[in-house]
Amino acid sequence: MLYKKSRIIVIGAGFAGLRAIQKLAKVNADIILIDRNNYHTFIPLLYQVAAGFVPPETVTYPLRKSLRSIANARFIQGKVQKIDFAAKVVQTEVMNLSYDYLVLATGSRTKFLDVDGAAQYALPMRALSDAVNIHDRLINNFERATICQDRARRMQLLTITIIGGGATGVELAGSIQELVKATLAKNYPTINSQEASVILLHSGATLLQDYPEHLGNYTCRQLRRRGVKVHLRSRVSEVLPGAIKLNDGQLLETAAIIWTAGVEANHPEAEAELPTASKAKIQVESTLQLPNYPQVYAVGDVALVKQAGKPLLGIAPEALQQGTTVAQNLKRQLRGLPPKPFNYFNKGKAAIIARNSGVAYLFGKIPVQGFAAWLLWLGIHLYYLPGIANRLVILGSWLRDYLTRERSMQQLFNHR
Ligand SMILES: Cc1cc2nc3c(=O)[nH]c(=O)nc-3n(C[C@H](O)[C@H](O)[C@H](O)COP(=O)(O)OP(=O)(O)OC[C@H]3O[C@@H](n4cnc5c(N)ncnc54)[C@H](O)[C@@H]3O)c2cc1C
Repeated sequence: MLYKKSRIIVIGAGFAGLRAIQKLAKVNADIILIDRNNYHTFIPLLYQVAAGFVPPETVTYPLRKSLRSIANARFIQGKVQKIDFAAKVVQTEVMNLSYDYLVLATGSRTKFLDVDGAAQYALPMRALSDAVNIHDRLINNFERATICQDRARRMQLLTITIIGGGATGVELAGSIQELVKATLAKNYPTINSQEASVILLHSGATLLQDYPEHLGNYTCRQLRRRGVKVHLRSRVSEVLPGAIKLNDGQLLETAAIIWTAGVEANHPEAEAELPTASKAKIQVESTLQLPNYPQVYAVGDVALVKQAGKPLLGIAPEALQQGTTVAQNLKRQLRGLPPKPFNYFNKGKAAIIARNSGVAYLFGKIPVQGFAAWLLWLGIHLYYLPGIANRLVILGSWLRDYLTRERSMQQLFNHR
């Protein structure tokens, strides 16, 4: 009798999918990793690309290099369009593939919360191309401001608005404020830097709502001290080309509008109805399997995973740990054993505010703020960034920025 190995398909080479593949090395099965890009993106550092801290390629890692040492795995670049769970077939734009086991790890995407004009005129911040677009928009606007004679138009070009006061919004606001201060003053002598402003709009009463309130308040004070105009309890009702309308009727003239106010699960179309919940996340069992499909797992941002009855937040450490669990459960299934429930070990989370200042909330109970949290954030991200060469370049870029306040100012794609 001919013995056929099981085939495991992992869709998505983000934190969850890539970790699963690494943990499945040496398992007696054929593994196929599918991603629309042929590189992994280290999303937490995207804001540094947008703010000109680090070069774009240093926050990516080639997937073929990641798979070099995993003999039972191969990579197919393609965008998964549809999944037929009954027939166990994954459909990409390049080919159809059948599977015995499937791991869905396709992450999340920007959600514009049905705000009129947001999808057309606001810049999202989810992928590498988004970060590059933001960077280029800022630099293009500086260039245009230097030749603009009309003061009101110049101020509009130099007003950067970030919508959403979560970790991404805070990190962007702090680092873009530094970019504006250092870069404008040094390199655009004809622009009066007083005409530039960075605005952070947040609908809640405190920033960083997933953190203890005092850390959100500290963050707000720090940003304001550095010149960011933080508007709390401020809702956007419409985004226009070059302006934002607020719920209270105020009109804000601003040529760069960055949207960080929402994300939702990003799953490919499925033949069967998927059980989804808030933010379109796929509901999974405690073992991370889909309720009616024990051969299918969903992990990371795409899945609604609960611990002690509460949904997890959607951060990288959760995705990594789910990647490990899914690999362990697949190994158990291959040996005929039942999968085990996922248990999240909360090591904590951290966000940078600006130079020398950050916040962290360790093990779900220890708050840290200021220089120690900033240093902790840098250390953790350097440790988890894939690739020694990337780490060295990033470290060099951070040192350059710290010592000279020099940032990348050339347009990366020179678009308008
Ligand atoms: C701007 C930003 C900053 C963040 N900062 C932090 C931070 O500092 N710390 C932290 O812990 N978390 C942070 N997060 C959250 C963290 O990035 C996510 O929780 C994590 O990336 C989720 O991992 P994942 O594997 O589920 O998805 P992802 O890492 O997003 O990976 C999904 C993968 O699926 C691929 N894919 C998607 N759709 C398809 C398709 N149809 N076909 C083929 N491939 C597909 C994508 O190309 C991608 O490679 C941040 C998120 C954002 C948006």
